[in-house]
Amino acid sequence: MSRVFHRHLTSTYPTAVAGDGPYLIDASGKRYLDASGGAAVSCLGHSDTQVQQAIAEQVSKMAYAHSSFFTSEPMEALADFLVERAPEGIASVYFVSGGSEAVEAALKMARQYFLEIGQPERTQVIARRQSYHGNTLGALATGGNAWRRQPFEPLLSETTHVSPCYAYRGKQAGESDIAYGERLAQELEQTIAQLGAERVMAFVAEPVVGATLGAVTAVPGYFQRVREICDRHGILLILDEVMCGMGRTGSLFACEQEGISPDIVTIAKGLGGGYQPIGATLASQRIRDAIAEGSGFFQHGHTYIGHATACAGALAVQRSIEDRGLLERVRHQGEGLQRRLLERFGDHPQVGDVRGRGLFLGLELVADRETQAPFPAERRLNARIKSAAMSQGLMCYPAGGTLDGRRGDHVLLAPPYIVEDRHLDEIVDKLEAAIDTALVECLAGGA
Ligand code: PLP
Repeated sequence: MSRVFHRHLTSTYPTAVAGDGPYLIDASGKRYLDASGGAAVSCLGHSDTQVQQAIAEQVSKMAYAHSSFFTSEPMEALADFLVERAPEGIASVYFVSGGSEAVEAALKMARQYFLEIGQPERTQVIARRQSYHGNTLGALATGGNAWRRQPFEPLLSETTHVSPCYAYRGKQAGESDIAYGERLAQELEQTIAQLGAERVMAFVAEPVVGATLGAVTAVPGYFQRVREICDRHGILLILDEVMCGMGRTGSLFACEQEGISPDIVTIAKGLGGGYQPIGATLASQRIRDAIAEGSGFFQHGHTYIGHATACAGALAVQRSIEDRGLLERVRHQGEGLQRRLLERFGDHPQVGDVRGRGLFLGLELVADRETQAPFPAERRLNARIKSAAMSQGLMCYPAGGTLDGRRGDHVLLAPPYIVEDRHLDEIVDKLEAAIDTALVECLAGGA
């Protein structure tokens, strides 16, 4: 019996032993095409020699120096790189080791900002249902996925959730995108009014919703209205780009495509591309200055913040994306994958929606396309797809609870930016086989 406290304690996992471009290889030699980058992490695949070299060089020079004693060259260089390319107004980077830590830091930074500027009454966070912001308690409280929250509810700080911008299910018949976005903006306005605008600290949202909705983009204009509302009430806009950022949607920051800048933005997965565990919370000049000119220090910190080797690895990943023109490639290959998915699944009776942006795409599965009825949760369609795909040698990221945290199934795809056309063909072929196998099992009625 394994002594590892695995995610699922009754499952056995294949042992991953090697990487080869977009493939992972297990101990038996079986190859798995990584069509989801794990969980939208591995943006350069699994064997990038430039990144491996940069990490080895840094380890051999100086692996780690605690950030309360020193700064380091890789940390400074990575902060420069990110700020120079960040949305307007972003001026400073706080490094952490992953996505949940980035969200925790964002929440505390927002709180401390309001204390520094003399608005201590601002404590309330508004976020959206069906979002995921991480599993630590602050991030989990912010997330709006009912299933993930439920067992820990008594431990979670109070957060108010509004509707996601989820056109496939949220838009009413005959309603235009603009009218739908406006209706959601009105809901946010009303929620702020109910809480008391002067008590609201931040609105938190993923520009493209990943794990819990399956690559759902907002309707045009929605985020501009959100930005306007936050500005009018002095509320900070925190965008969580842990999954959708760092090129995943075809621009370095996903919010570039929404035409807005956040006050704080969190990044992680594609930052280190899986070569190193690293995340970051990027803040505007205004926030940095308020803390610098106020108490002078951010009352937060972890042992590994700004880890030199992690920063060196992430810098190599980011330089590689830029030097090899991979953002353009994400857009191009993303269109290619979306086209293939539409060709293959556009008329599939159990695929209700194909969506997403760049190499961040999702399929929503339904029992009935007409009524959009989901499969009963007990049929575990998403789990069956994952398992059938792994048998085929395909990694994808299916999840359940798409509608309300319990009902609904989707599959998220987030392959590495280096995928070639033959990989896209392989993804679609294997995914079709996996979905069909899972559907046969499901429709046969087994629980
Ligand atoms: N935020 C978003 C949008 C995510 O998708 C995730 C992870 O999936 C997180 C935060 C948490 O990141 P981590 O798992 O690195 O803690």
